[in-house]
Amino acid sequence: MSEITARDPRTGRIDWRGAAADAGEIATIAAQLRATQPTWEAKGPSTRLEILRAFGRALDRHSGPIGEALEADTGRRRIARLEIDSVIGSIEGWARVVANDAAPDWVPGRGLPSVRHTAAWKPYPLVGVVSPWNFPLLLGMIDAVPALLAGCAVLVKPSEVTPRFIAPVMAALAEVPDLAAVFATVVGDGATGAAVVNVADCVCFTGSVATGRKVAVQAAGRLIPAYLELGGKDPLIVLDGADLEHATDAALRGSVLSTGQACQSIERIYVQRSIHDAFLNRLVEKAEAARLNWPDIGSGQIGPIIFNKQADILAAQIADARAQGAHILTGGEIETHGGGFWLRPTVIAGVTHAMTVMREETFGPILPVMAFDTDDEAITLANDGEYGLSAAVFARTLEEAEAIGRRIEAGAVSLNDAALTSIFYEAAKQGFKASGLGPSRMGEDGYRRFLRRQALIANTAAPLPLAAFSEEGSK
Ligand code: NAD
Repeated sequence: MSEITARDPRTGRIDWRGAAADAGEIATIAAQLRATQPTWEAKGPSTRLEILRAFGRALDRHSGPIGEALEADTGRRRIARLEIDSVIGSIEGWARVVANDAAPDWVPGRGLPSVRHTAAWKPYPLVGVVSPWNFPLLLGMIDAVPALLAGCAVLVKPSEVTPRFIAPVMAALAEVPDLAAVFATVVGDGATGAAVVNVADCVCFTGSVATGRKVAVQAAGRLIPAYLELGGKDPLIVLDGADLEHATDAALRGSVLSTGQACQSIERIYVQRSIHDAFLNRLVEKAEAARLNWPDIGSGQIGPIIFNKQADILAAQIADARAQGAHILTGGEIETHGGGFWLRPTVIAGVTHAMTVMREETFGPILPVMAFDTDDEAITLANDGEYGLSAAVFARTLEEAEAIGRRIEAGAVSLNDAALTSIFYEAAKQGFKASGLGPSRMGEDGYRRFLRRQALIANTAAPLPLAAFSEEGSK
């Protein structure tokens, strides 16, 4: 059993210690969950929904301690509360999907009239969820809720960087014993995550491309599905004629919300040359108005960098851009306050695709801006890279924005806004290219992907004898 320590992102102090669940413990928990899952499945969707609603109420009752723990995990307050509200609200969102899930009819056969068939949907007995540190509660629960509703047992392994929220969530879960019998969350690191993949029948992974590849390989070895939600390098294209106030507002919010520590953050901005300078000036003015939430957590818009190693990545991307001739127009220095690391919105001009800030995931409040001349050039630039999570287009009209958006290789494209997937959860979408694998986690597929389709095929006549297929007399 190895010890895990966690650092408070606002103070830099290591003030949390816990034990990582090892493979033996994971196997024991998995066996318990598997043993209780058939009872959970037998309850049916509407009873399961009522039990999840009870869990939502328990989360609400425990929102004080859960919020405080998330605050210590992430160094932000309002977004911590929003995470709790989103998880509770998601239960009703999934309730609408389940309500549309009518039992399938028997379908008469076409080739064999005496044979008819229907479908049954069988949940994967045990779903393993491995999640990252940037929205610890939300991304731990985003797959767990539909999987539980589908009738699966679920084992969640959140990031070792942000483990504090687990205990108060488990306290809320303990008040709903029917759910606690099929749902567990464990403290642990990468080895614990690998142990979860080793016992699950289906795995949902949210995290980096590098770890996603390892999970995919491990899952392939076990012949289980791996639904991967990975990183992004989302482009924003701003065309001549776009409303510059709207475009700069959306660019800033889309890039620096949650201090850029969101997979769907805008990380590259391409602006048509005729409006490039005006866009840049306005963006810099707005970026400079943003404030750190330091020393008061209840102030400003920019929180600390949650994972200290991320500060090194941001500093290295800025240094690389500088060294290759880019201009840092505002921000650009990692600041230390308390013992935490902070970066103000950093606008960079004169960037090229030779720079890491335009190619590699940043996961911070950095806005590199590049000029383009033609639509085709903008689309080529937006599609240049290994990621395809989401993208955004601003134009004079929605029609123009849509025409460009349809040519971008990304699973979600915001039109005349940016990063809409962070506030609008209803649209089904997949991660393109290296940004993901598997069906959409939103919409009906987000529920269906936890159900295996079983065909029930009935014959109303006498079964065909072997003689019907005899080779005798065949020519
Ligand atoms: P990470 O890949 O380092 O870790 C994610 C999780 O995987 C953690 O819980 C970690 O303990 C676990 N893990 C590590 N090694 C493992 C292994 N071999 N087997 C199984 N599990 C293992 O990612 P991170 O740094 O925590 O999160 C940031 C990344 O997550 C960014 O790339 C971001 O874009 C991505 N992300 C994607 C989405 C999305 O929906 N597409 C959402 C949020 C974050």
